[in-house]
Amino acid sequence: MRIAIVGAGISGLAAAYDLQKLEGFEVTLFDKSAGVGGKIQTVREGDYLIEQGPDSIFSAKPWAVDLMCELGMEDELVEPLSSEFSILTKGKLHKVPRALATFIPSASGALEKVGFLSAAAKRRALKEAEVEPGAGEDESIASFFRRRFGRKFSELVAEPLLAGTHAGDPEKLSMAAMYPAYLGMEREHGSVAEAAAKRQHASGPSRKVGFLTLKGGMATFPQRLANALTNVRCMPSTEVLGLAPESGAVRLQTSSGEFVFDHLILAVPANVASSLLAGSRPGAAEKLGQIQYVSTAIATLVYKRSAFPEPLTGNGFLVPFSEPSAITGCTWSSNKWASRAPEDELLIRAFMGRTGGLNVDDFDDDSLIAQAADELSVLVKPSQPPLFTRLDRWPKAMAQYELGHLALLAGIEESLAGLPISLVGSSYRGNSIPDCVRQGREAARKLAAK
Ligand SMILES: Cc1cc2nc3c(=O)[nH]c(=O)nc-3n(C[C@H](O)[C@H](O)[C@H](O)COP(=O)(O)OP(=O)(O)OC[C@H]3O[C@@H](n4cnc5c(N)ncnc54)[C@H](O)[C@@H]3O)c2cc1C
Repeated sequence: MRIAIVGAGISGLAAAYDLQKLEGFEVTLFDKSAGVGGKIQTVREGDYLIEQGPDSIFSAKPWAVDLMCELGMEDELVEPLSSEFSILTKGKLHKVPRALATFIPSASGALEKVGFLSAAAKRRALKEAEVEPGAGEDESIASFFRRRFGRKFSELVAEPLLAGTHAGDPEKLSMAAMYPAYLGMEREHGSVAEAAAKRQHASGPSRKVGFLTLKGGMATFPQRLANALTNVRCMPSTEVLGLAPESGAVRLQTSSGEFVFDHLILAVPANVASSLLAGSRPGAAEKLGQIQYVSTAIATLVYKRSAFPEPLTGNGFLVPFSEPSAITGCTWSSNKWASRAPEDELLIRAFMGRTGGLNVDDFDDDSLIAQAADELSVLVKPSQPPLFTRLDRWPKAMAQYELGHLALLAGIEESLAGLPISLVGSSYRGNSIPDCVRQGREAARKLAAK
């Protein structure tokens, strides 16, 4: 069987890795860029190790760690030096206790020192177990957490963590599409807090869960995967320009000529899949085009640690949707991970751009860096300008799983029924790296079972 995979991001690479092991399969992997990894890119600039896109994987979703272990990378996985983060509210940073970030406000001491929630908001959050489960309709992140924990807890803790990190509007993003696990907790245990506490107890304090990175940077993962593709025909710098399904096969038009395959895995964002299908399957293309994207940018700024009047501890801060800020969150990257910058310097990544907020496409690089530096000047008051700056842009890169996303996916699948085409990747059923690995491997498994 001749298989084409379009996209050598982590989704396409994971599919290729499994398919190459199957007898009778010839796999060709196309990517328009010269390298691999898609959004997973790391650069070294002098003494700095800079993530241009993702900086970690969530190990509780095991699929990426499993694959890294298969590739012999377990010794390269590292835990954060700090997991503590702050929330920006009314222009001030407040530390968020770990138990609140895992939605267990009843944990001993969790709410005692918290200054950013009123006594009434704390009392309301503690009543979460008494709240009846929802009616099972598609519900937004804001609606779900407001209903269960109260308005302020939702606005200042849950929404920045669960919607802010996706540059999304918490009133629009779908719980069912993005966080089905919390819906399961509500359904099965009647309480997110109680289910989370039980799960923590069951896993025990010693189990390695949480966010992990790779010593040499996240890009070593796709690179190692690409090196393991010994039985795949790799076609870098080859853009797929169009496709035409024809009697049990698919013809691809590419910048390197035309090719016919028995099956096609589209591991590109849905907006690319939409334009590729526009000529032959306008119905599917129109639905794929309904998935919205937001542009984001990361300003990297390095300061002398001695420039800050107070040492910056923890791993950074998140910004609630209600806070007027050009920054949506900041990672004190060299506090969070070892060996990112010299000891006496702090490498900061400031995230910018979100739905309903700053549109980074309207500003040039210098202006975005200046906005990030200005906000940091007000918040943490460095006495000197940054030693180093850099801007990485991600135009229309973050898929937004808005209310109705799962129904839209069902419609897309129906429009493509009977065609030898699979869709995988960050636009569909989970946009974290582990979810992308899972989708790529599932597509391979389904083809193997045919
Ligand atoms: C700024 C940022 C930070 C993130 N942080 C995290 C994080 O910390 N942890 C986490 O788990 N996830 C994070 N994510 C999400 C995660 O990185 C992505 O969802 C994931 O890497 C997407 O992988 P993918 O293979 O589906 O798509 P992509 O990485 O987008 O790969 C698609 C590939 O298709 C190629 N392509 C596109 N069009 C064509 C064409 N016409 N012909 C040929 N090739 C084409 C592209 O060149 C690209 O290589 C982050 C994302 C961003 C943007």
